[in-house]
Amino acid sequence: MDLNIKTNEKNHLEIGGVDAVEIAKEFGTPTYVIDEDRIRDNYKRFYSAFSKYYPDFKVFYACKANTNIAVLKILEEEGSCIDAVSPGEVYISKKLGFTGNRILFTGNNIKDSELKEVSDAGVILNIDSVSALKRLAKLINPENVKISFRVNPMVGAGHHDHCITGGVMSKFGIMDSEAVEVYKLAKELGFNPVGMHSHIGSGILDPEPFKLAIESTMDIAGKVHKEAGIEFEFLDFGGGIGIPYTPDEKLLDLDKFAEENMKLFKAKLKEYDMAEPTLYLEPGRYLVGDAAVLLTEVNSIKQSYRKFIGIDAGFNTLLRPAMYDSYHHMVIANKMDEEDVEEVDVAGNVCESGDLFARDRPLPKVEEGDILAILNAGAYSFTMASNYNTRPLPKEVLISNKKAIVVRKEQSYDDIFQKQTMPEHLK
Ligand SMILES: *Cc1c(COP(=O)(O)O)cnc(C)c1O
Repeated sequence: MDLNIKTNEKNHLEIGGVDAVEIAKEFGTPTYVIDEDRIRDNYKRFYSAFSKYYPDFKVFYACKANTNIAVLKILEEEGSCIDAVSPGEVYISKKLGFTGNRILFTGNNIKDSELKEVSDAGVILNIDSVSALKRLAKLINPENVKISFRVNPMVGAGHHDHCITGGVMSKFGIMDSEAVEVYKLAKELGFNPVGMHSHIGSGILDPEPFKLAIESTMDIAGKVHKEAGIEFEFLDFGGGIGIPYTPDEKLLDLDKFAEENMKLFKAKLKEYDMAEPTLYLEPGRYLVGDAAVLLTEVNSIKQSYRKFIGIDAGFNTLLRPAMYDSYHHMVIANKMDEEDVEEVDVAGNVCESGDLFARDRPLPKVEEGDILAILNAGAYSFTMASNYNTRPLPKEVLISNKKAIVVRKEQSYDDIFQKQTMPEHLK
């Protein structure tokens, strides 16, 4: 099994060398627990895999996966850059020390005020439509920004339809057939377009779709180089590199993945007679996905028409199972040595039938008071949490050097309501 699970001598789940049951006791539940070392290891493994075959390489962490400021700072220290998809992500990255040239803004359906805000922040702008290009030209001095275009490589891949971001049904990017014209238009408008970007989807565990995307993006880039006279400073093939979520999924062989993809990339540069640009990749999930666990407590067990294990978290805490039908592996943190003996449904505490974490999940004998740990909760987990049902956003704890440090306090009820105002006539 390739899942990131460690057990200590008490047969408890261990996170970053700390007993998960002790963490639950000390901090309560639900709590997201983040392992600093795992993030650093993931970054180093990713960076060295690609830089080995193509040294002029930069990692742009797709921070929508996890924007806890400690996580961002850890990756800043490792040397990562940031892929930001909103002005808010640009704001927090700059505040934490990422300089403008280490931030790529990849927005879609961006309004003028936001375009202005992010270009004033001095970041690299990755433009998603002709509309945005034309509006940007009116808002700022085109000489003052570095731009690239997101193209649709007509290849899509991902763990769920919602996560496929290339192909004819996708809202992202400019069409391959219009790319040359768009780069020419950018030059006419006074811009200096220096990059090209594609991102085909999320949760890819197989080198093939990524190779197709590189191939097709490079064909577009080659044409733009020849016909629009663009010398690329960087080419960016996005993120989407997956991690195993189920016990039978295998870790991607990253070295092989990098070797095959870089071989293709270099061959394509030669084919189109292009100088070697900087390579950008934008992993999100790969860097942080397996670096956090959501600790919950089993608070009620109900034998109805089915057996329901009720926990103190819901889709307000972790949305992926309800939104994408995602599988998250679960373990009973205080019973790591026990065999699975029954198949149960694991249900959250939100008033919605869809609030289920699993159906027919094999688990050991579960009792009220057990600590149920939901694994792989580092990416698209806290960042998608909400206050639905007037539940406070949970705590986040960072494990660093075998110490547990609170990096986000649980919200209070007043925090939830603080931005609301009562109209005079109802006071
Ligand atoms: C979400 C996103 C990513 C990261 O995707 P992962 O599957 O987490 O690696 C990269 N680039 C862009 C533009 C994105 O929107």
